[in-house]
Amino acid sequence: MSQAPKRSRSTRLVHMGRVPTPTYGFVNPPVHRGSTVVYPNVAERDARRAHPFDQVLTYGAQGGPTHYYLEDAIAELEGGTRCQLLPTGLAAVTTALLAYLKSGDHCLVPDSVYGPCRRFCDTLGAQLGIETTYYAPEIDAPALRALMRANTRVVYAESPGSHTMEVQDVPMLARVAHEAGAGLLLDNTWGITFFQPFEHGVDCSIQAATKYIGGHSDILLGAITTATEDDWKRVRSAATTLGQYASPDDCWLALRGLRTLGVRLEAQMRSGLQIASWLRDRPEVADVLHPGLPGAPGHEIWKRDFTGACSLFTVELRQDIPVQSMRDMIDALDLFQVGASWGGFESLVLPTTNGITRTASGGKARGPLFRLHIGLESVDELIADLDRALSHLAAGPARA
Ligand SMILES: *Cc1c(COP(=O)(O)O)cnc(C)c1O
Repeated sequence: MSQAPKRSRSTRLVHMGRVPTPTYGFVNPPVHRGSTVVYPNVAERDARRAHPFDQVLTYGAQGGPTHYYLEDAIAELEGGTRCQLLPTGLAAVTTALLAYLKSGDHCLVPDSVYGPCRRFCDTLGAQLGIETTYYAPEIDAPALRALMRANTRVVYAESPGSHTMEVQDVPMLARVAHEAGAGLLLDNTWGITFFQPFEHGVDCSIQAATKYIGGHSDILLGAITTATEDDWKRVRSAATTLGQYASPDDCWLALRGLRTLGVRLEAQMRSGLQIASWLRDRPEVADVLHPGLPGAPGHEIWKRDFTGACSLFTVELRQDIPVQSMRDMIDALDLFQVGASWGGFESLVLPTTNGITRTASGGKARGPLFRLHIGLESVDELIADLDRALSHLAAGPARA
């Protein structure tokens, strides 16, 4: 047996400790971080690169085991075929649009869409020669058919809409889109687990995994799940061509978040509905835009298509309450911190009155609006906090 040559420190530093990573019986898989993938020989390299769409490691930018575990899990959660991870929810939105649209195509987007999606359509999308028409989120089939053009390739949906919470008739959107040979893309972040997109005709479902999947306000992550393998290849190809890559550490945290997603959602749904219903009875409140609340806007479609609700909703104050009074009321809250994003364990509040852009529909709210995300705090203490802060509002005439 030939004796191993004595290597230099620098060479040993490069080679030591690089063992394969079995789990040793631990419950969770390790985080696999990596850029370069090394092959035992050239033939093995060729063999692996012959399968660009399989979960075969060729280079870190195509993802690794930590990504694959999470992609498989989210595909199952969404009820789709396969999933592609992206570094943020917004990257999932824009990459999905780029995967389905090319120069000269037309796209229909709801007026209530997440603001940065509108920004993409109006700037980069327009620069690339993709034309967007905004439609009222509660559109019916004849009106939608009237907006479809020969070059309409995508109907985009987000249900409920950001801030104003309009519930969309997704099965109808799917029918009209498919009649015209267009695809239906849905931002399903709010509907996580409660809306099964592929049972309602969606071709491509987008998740900001940053929200409830992460669940702890400490990661950014997006996911696109598709109905078919062909749709997935289109998305996967766009993501890898653009060099979009999610951090394996964030993927690992998202896998950890998934383990408690069910109990978090159940608890937050219960608290959210309790607080929404309490708020609706307050004299300062004109309306509570929570689709899960009986009688609220969109409740009938929600009841037909969803099996539950997350804990994000919007409150419309009486029209005679000045916006400044609402801002003071928000500042008086103790347990609700002012902040965007949602889906974490903590309660949040955000004034939304001035943040809504509308070009195709007016939006129904006339009083000042604020959005609440209900976290995992005691619901009684959250209600007491809201009760105390609402008493700061200028006294006005009682609700009609
Ligand atoms: C937050 C959000 C996104 C974007 O997610 P990020 O990870 O923050 O980029 C997309 N869609 C909706 C509806 C969101 O609320």
